[in-house]
Amino acid sequence: MDRRFCIHVGIALAPIVVLSCWLLAHEWTAFSGANLALRSFDSVRSALFAMEKVSAERGPSNGALGEDLPLPAARAAALDAARRESDRRLAALVDALRRNGCPRCDDDAGAIEALEADLAAARANIDRLLRLPLARRGDRALSEAVDQMIAIVPEFLPIVAARTSDIVAADPYTLNSLILAKLAADLREQAGQLGSHFTSALAMNRALAEDERFALERGEGRIEQLRSMINSRLVAHADVNPQAAAALNDEYYGDGLRYVDAVRLLADRPGGAGLTTARFAAQYVPTMRSITGLRDSALGHAEDALRAHRRHALGILAGTAAGVALLLVALIWAIARFRQQVVSPFVKATALIEAIADGDLTTEVPTSFRRHEIRGMFDAIAVLKHHSAERARLERERASLMEELATMAQTDPLTHLLNRRAFETRARALCAEAQAAGDPVAMIMFDIDHFKHINDTHGHAAGDDALRTVAELCRKHWRQSDVVARIGGEEFAVAARVSAGGDAFALAERLRRGIAEAAVPADGAPVCKVTASFGVALASARDEADVAQLLKRADHVLYQAKLAGRNCVVVDPGSPALDGSARSPSVVS
Ligand code: GH3
Ligand code: MG
Ligand code: MG
Repeated sequence: MDRRFCIHVGIALAPIVVLSCWLLAHEWTAFSGANLALRSFDSVRSALFAMEKVSAERGPSNGALGEDLPLPAARAAALDAARRESDRRLAALVDALRRNGCPRCDDDAGAIEALEADLAAARANIDRLLRLPLARRGDRALSEAVDQMIAIVPEFLPIVAARTSDIVAADPYTLNSLILAKLAADLREQAGQLGSHFTSALAMNRALAEDERFALERGEGRIEQLRSMINSRLVAHADVNPQAAAALNDEYYGDGLRYVDAVRLLADRPGGAGLTTARFAAQYVPTMRSITGLRDSALGHAEDALRAHRRHALGILAGTAAGVALLLVALIWAIARFRQQVVSPFVKATALIEAIADGDLTTEVPTSFRRHEIRGMFDAIAVLKHHSAERARLERERASLMEELATMAQTDPLTHLLNRRAFETRARALCAEAQAAGDPVAMIMFDIDHFKHINDTHGHAAGDDALRTVAELCRKHWRQSDVVARIGGEEFAVAARVSAGGDAFALAERLRRGIAEAAVPADGAPVCKVTASFGVALASARDEADVAQLLKRADHVLYQAKLAGRNCVVVDPGSPALDGSARSPSVVS
């Protein structure tokens, strides 16, 4: 029962455990996704920062390219600082991608290596031009150097796109913030390129060429397009700081683009704008900070959302784990209690009832149960055990009574010798055994002499005492195997297996003498003397010993002993002469 209970509990618990594990795995996946999204966000932010710094490196590069030899120390220092900043951001991006631990991050690391090689080539080209006097640098070479730097920036975009898709897969609500950050980064790039288009004209103090004017218009168109895209997202979602949006409008779209328009008008003159590239950069570049401000605000918003999402996922995971643990502990506790308080007592009760049914009443019935029903069941078993014990005791008593009755039915109550009926039965068995063994059987009968006189003289009680004394002498003189009985009032009979006729005679004679010599206590002082007369009949091993016949023959010679004067032994003359000691009839007085 206990084993079956355990199997059923196992079957019931299995789906609950599977469901709990599935739930935990699901929440763990959500939490891991939120973690991965945060790490991917770090990569996106690092990529956008590195992209900005590579883009910003063009400012001091253009500034230096517009200066003649010798390059002013301030220009050289600004270029060097910008390059170091780019390198620092690129190293940070490589670190972030390594920490990211996404399956395709290795591809991104390869892309960065290619990007760094392109950047090194672009820088080497700029450095080569910077070693030439300004007049020998040439318009075309300058444009190519600028374009080479511009061409590096789009190499960041696949990394940004891949990592953004990882973030959005785990947390779609960050999509708008990330798109805004990306649009702001694009805007920063376009704004930088817009400034770069002036580099050659300003450096060579000439008017803008046709293609430069066209590029400027195209850049402004692209910037306007980005502005409307950013604005539409800003209206739909409150994903950036309002001050950042206002600063973008005032500083870049206001001051920055106004300054670009003014310089473009000036640069249309044949002698150029009359501005150095450095002065242009000093005026224009600060207005672009509002663009990165908007980008950082969008990134901050996305990061806050991702962290909140991760906290939420962690909370749900911890709550689920606690709930599952609590549920399992509660279930196991309830099952264990049920097993201890209900199943085990039932198993114990079954074993007890089986033991009681088998007659084993030694097992103690436990009583220390708190549950009312279980206590009631064991109380009932205790009553059952008590009744069974009582019944067993009664059965034992009955058996003992039966045994007593059987003994009484076979025994004479005064002398405790066998009665006549039992004597006949046992004597028949003895005769059969003796005949089977080839032994002769002696039947000895004796009767107390003048017993009536003893009764009359000393009282009935003294007569009883005399009978008991004779019985005691019988037990003393005869062997265990002999059958001795009181077959009448003061008549006794003995059936014995003997080896010779003389043995039977000697046996009778010994008892006769014993009786004659015995002292029977009579009421009062004088001791009553008792004698008995004996008749002995024998059956040889060849004869078929018939008990009734033998008794009859023994009784006959007993009568003769009485006639012969009593207190003597007479052997049946019809008995076979077994040895010389037997006489026919033999009389001993
Ligand atoms: P005999 O020598 O010829 O045998 O004479 P007897 O007196 O012994 O024989 P009788 O048959 O005349 O008397 C037997 C008496 O034994 C009669 C009876 O009252 C007495 N008697 C029989 N059974 C008991 C008994 O259980 N207890 C006592 N006290 N007397 C008994
Ligand atoms: Mg008598
Ligand atoms: Mg008699």
